[in-house]
Amino acid sequence: MNREKGYTGIEYFRIIASLLVIAIHTSPLASFSDVGDFILTRVTARIAVPFFFTASGYFLISCYSQSAGKLILFVKHTALIYGVSILLYLPVNLYNGYFKMENPAPHIVRDIIFDGTLYHLWYLPASIMGAAAAWYLIRKTDYKNAFITALILYLVGLFGDSYYGIAEKIPGMSGIYQFMFQLFDHTRNGIFFAPIFFLLGGYMADRYRHRRINKMGYTHLENSIWGFAVSFSLMLGEAMLLWFFDVQRHDSMYLFLLPCMYFLFRFILFFRGKRPPYLKEVSLLIYIIHPMIIVLLRLAARLLHLQSVLVDNSMVHYLVVCVLSVGISVVAVIFWERHRPQGNRVPDGRDRSYIEVSLENLEHNARVLQKAMPSGCRLMAVVKAEAYGHGAFEIATHLDKIGVRAFAVATIEEGIHLRKYGIRGEILILGYTDVHRVRELKKYDLIQSLIDFDYAAALNQEGIAVKAHIKIDTGMHRLGISAGEWEKAEKIFAMKNIDVCGIFTHLCCADHLAPDDVAFTKGQIDSFYDLLADLQADGFRIPKIHIQNSYGLLNYPDLKCDYVRAGIALYGVLSSPEDDTVLKLDLRPVLSLRSKVVLIRSVGKGEPVGYGRAFTAQRHSRIAIVPVGYADGYPRSLSCGHSSVLIRGSRVPIIGRICMDQMAVDVTDLEEAAVGDIVTLVGVDGGNELEAPVVAYGSGSISNELLSRMGRRG
Ligand SMILES: *Cc1c(COP(=O)(O)O)cnc(C)c1O
Repeated sequence: MNREKGYTGIEYFRIIASLLVIAIHTSPLASFSDVGDFILTRVTARIAVPFFFTASGYFLISCYSQSAGKLILFVKHTALIYGVSILLYLPVNLYNGYFKMENPAPHIVRDIIFDGTLYHLWYLPASIMGAAAAWYLIRKTDYKNAFITALILYLVGLFGDSYYGIAEKIPGMSGIYQFMFQLFDHTRNGIFFAPIFFLLGGYMADRYRHRRINKMGYTHLENSIWGFAVSFSLMLGEAMLLWFFDVQRHDSMYLFLLPCMYFLFRFILFFRGKRPPYLKEVSLLIYIIHPMIIVLLRLAARLLHLQSVLVDNSMVHYLVVCVLSVGISVVAVIFWERHRPQGNRVPDGRDRSYIEVSLENLEHNARVLQKAMPSGCRLMAVVKAEAYGHGAFEIATHLDKIGVRAFAVATIEEGIHLRKYGIRGEILILGYTDVHRVRELKKYDLIQSLIDFDYAAALNQEGIAVKAHIKIDTGMHRLGISAGEWEKAEKIFAMKNIDVCGIFTHLCCADHLAPDDVAFTKGQIDSFYDLLADLQADGFRIPKIHIQNSYGLLNYPDLKCDYVRAGIALYGVLSSPEDDTVLKLDLRPVLSLRSKVVLIRSVGKGEPVGYGRAFTAQRHSRIAIVPVGYADGYPRSLSCGHSSVLIRGSRVPIIGRICMDQMAVDVTDLEEAAVGDIVTLVGVDGGNELEAPVVAYGSGSISNELLSRMGRRG
């Protein structure tokens, strides 16, 4: 599955944001300047919590995800943290006289749901509500409508927050807000404030998650900085005006906070690389414990008569709270990581080499392809050859789950497997099946391609009614009856035991855009439609029709058909890096091939490595041994420096001959390489990517072959 690693910018900004939150609660500039304090704590630091919401949304919300799994996990996790935090602060509540008020029960319920039982804890229930609201909105509509709804909520919240002075003056409105304030103290909560930022995070993820940094480019960075500078200035102006005219009831929500967050987050996304560990946990802990630190620090200062040193100067006070909060959080997280229950370490099949499949990308590709088709045309997912090496079970069951109802396979065995996996919907066998297996065709409700007239006649002879699609040969000269032989097609229609529910052809050079290839393809398409017209003229009802494979759709997107048989594009890659296509779709690779370093050894200058002594060290070298080889689908022809792999985001060359199950790579120049490091042979690591078409091309082949040979051993 997709590992969301490498968002260095997001991880580091979490710490900055948590220090800004401490600023809100300690006002470091209060001893020096009212205006300065306002700008820092009531404007600048107000970026922090929306940032946390956006970051959570980034990893949680996606218009491509249908399942609630991640959300449920997030809610459980946040609720647990909230529960623990409530208990942690009970002594403070007691000390503050929280339970002394009259009739505390409704107040407590209200605080638990909306406002938090201490001033900063509202963030946790707001996260739960905001996440759930964003998830629901994007599931029910699209980004546009979801944003409109969330924006309306935000505006309602705005007029109960920093614009309240205006709402208050409008007769009907002030009544409504008075009523709302019976339910919660602040409108900056999970209903009005949080959802739009969670959506924003999801939107950014769907837009940028899969773009590599170099593709995002420096204009992206520049635009983000400018956008942030402008919107931050506007927010500052907005806040100052509201403050000056005494409009604010509270000061968390501003209009220009929205563009501010958009540009800031875009900027932060630019920074990717190795993921710094535990910053998320540390920042959350800082957020949760710093009010406790403030209380304890004041207490200690009073007991030790150090108020003048530790508390009176607001800046010193702030810095001391920061140092203590960060220090205690770091120590606590390290302690927890060392001592948490590890469970029994069961090998997860990833102890050697493995393929990683991103179902999220698969789902994305399926939707992108479906969108590119003319209306009425549906995706027939080609899952032959173990779904091009990705694993037919995982791929087909996921596609079934997201509503794909037509599949194509190469053999009857593959079709039977799909049924056993619980695949509903149509399954078309594209290749030859021995006619004696007609009972199995029937039993598993599989559709057989009729590869020529004699085959159809033989199948009919078996005496058992089966579903079939007629294959028409329009120039590839592989399978099918010739497009000119319409009378043969008509005879098949008349066969008693053949239920013709489809008719199709296959394009043989739709991947090339040279003029003669285009002319040939158009000829194929025309002769197919001509045949259909002949059949229709003779009174036959035309069954479901299909022509295009992946490149057929990408280069001839407008054909009138019932299905597109998409294989390679569904897996998110083109066949070759040299290919150009008419439609340029945002397809995302589904498969990564990974292994890990199991041994690092030194080899002296002049010493050989591997079979045939094909490599000789030209210098004193460090060699890493990686347990993946041609039996795992990695082509042997990429031996001897013809290819490289990624370790810690850097390219290192393969040296010597690739063996059946192992290979050697030269890590002399990558000093930090260590045993246990993940090795990426196809896929993304850090800011680098090895694309399947490029790897395949280097081995003299196409992605289709490279991928379909993988995943058999594991
Ligand atoms: C394999 C196959 C496809 C899928 O081709 P892609 O180029 O991978 O999309 C479609 N139609 C037929 C007949 C096939 O054999």
